[in-house]
Amino acid sequence: MVRISIPTLPKAPLVPPSGLSVLPIPQAAAHLASFLEKGKGKTVMLTGAGVSVDSGIRAYRGEKGTYSNPNYKPILFHELVEDSDRGDMFRRRYWARSFLGYPPVRDAQPNPTHIYIAALQHLGLAPKLITQNVDNLHRKAYSLLSPSYKESNILELHGTLAKVHCLKHRHEQKRDSYQEEIARMNPVWDEEAKEAERTGRRPRTNPDGDVELHGVDYRSFSVPPCRICEQEKVDPSMVKPNVVFFGETITPRVRDESLNLIAEASSLLILGTSLATYSAFRLVKSAIELNKPVLMITTGPTRADPFVEKGMEKMDRVAGDVLGKYLDEAVKTSTGQEVEDVKRYLHTGVVKRPPEVEGPRAEG
Ligand SMILES: [Zn+2]
Repeated sequence: MVRISIPTLPKAPLVPPSGLSVLPIPQAAAHLASFLEKGKGKTVMLTGAGVSVDSGIRAYRGEKGTYSNPNYKPILFHELVEDSDRGDMFRRRYWARSFLGYPPVRDAQPNPTHIYIAALQHLGLAPKLITQNVDNLHRKAYSLLSPSYKESNILELHGTLAKVHCLKHRHEQKRDSYQEEIARMNPVWDEEAKEAERTGRRPRTNPDGDVELHGVDYRSFSVPPCRICEQEKVDPSMVKPNVVFFGETITPRVRDESLNLIAEASSLLILGTSLATYSAFRLVKSAIELNKPVLMITTGPTRADPFVEKGMEKMDRVAGDVLGKYLDEAVKTSTGQEVEDVKRYLHTGVVKRPPEVEGPRAEG
């Protein structure tokens, strides 16, 4: 862990956990500095949709916990796997929309907040990260700063859109190769996708890479089966993205790993999330029960707000504003190779908001 000293930040005044939101950004950054210092490099971070909004990834839920797109109805897990004609139609509809919706997610770039979070990891201030996001952007950011970063330092609580697997045998493959297979089997749809790419008139994409299409006959769409099943001559199986769907629970392995990360952490830093999913909320609950210091930096109400009474600290702030101020000052006065790496990329994040989102930032 790099020695970080920040003489330029003002001293953080003593305020009750509920009063942190009124701190000006420099004092908020100073508070974060002292929180990280006390964590001694064993602080775990937990992130959600709020950190990806600036990369053009739409959040499911807006400020008040409502869906930011009120007409959006996510596909439910039981519908996707149903062994019936209806299930077959759901799968065609899902993969057709997802085929067109994935490229913008695939091409999305880390925004400043992803870079700041990767910087905390690379500097050894908070090496471990748990995210609810499936957009792969934390890995993109971390690999910029640290090309040989430890993959196990990022736990994707709800999986990733960058991979797919078959349901029966869990044969895993890269999403990109499955997209190519879909394109080969569905030339007409592929033409549609290329047209969207050419004109930039991409359909409205939801955070799970799904898009909305109207007046389309999905029966013309073929869903490729798992080719690894075919090669191994086992019972062919349907393919699904490596993401947890609505109505599906996370695997016991991921659940245990996430709870272990909390148990081994010195403290928990929560960034850009309303903790609407139980699998994430449970981690905060666990940290509070284990008497670990918890600092949450996010805008709007969250499911964990009652924990403020139990000592959880909450700043109603855009996480990137506080992280950015902290890191700007930290790299000015600290030295070492990691600090140089961070300096090189600190301001390379790309902001590309989803065009229809206006007003206050959405949080997931
Ligand atoms: Zn298979």
